[in-house]
Amino acid sequence: MDDIKLAMLRNKEAAKRLTEAGVLLPCPGCGESSAKICYVCGDHFGMCKTCGWTGPFRNAEYEARLAWNTRAPILSESEMEMLDEH
Ligand SMILES: [Zn+2]
Repeated sequence: MDDIKLAMLRNKEAAKRLTEAGVLLPCPGCGESSAKICYVCGDHFGMCKTCGWTGPFRNAEYEARLAWNTRAPILSESEMEMLDEH
């Protein structure tokens, strides 16, 4: 199982590794991997370019990325298996 799936199963260590690598998890709203970190008026936040889902506002880009990665949709093992079949 890769770090993205581990992070979506609420594995904090995997989420941290992805954050340090600059990776954002798929969007909690639409599932697309098109999230970007935006910067507006001193705040950083993750935003999905597909559906506009917005993550928590943070002072630093790293913190915003970590917040995005730790608030991703929480999937059960069986839901994860269904994703693998597609
Ligand atoms: Zn989205």
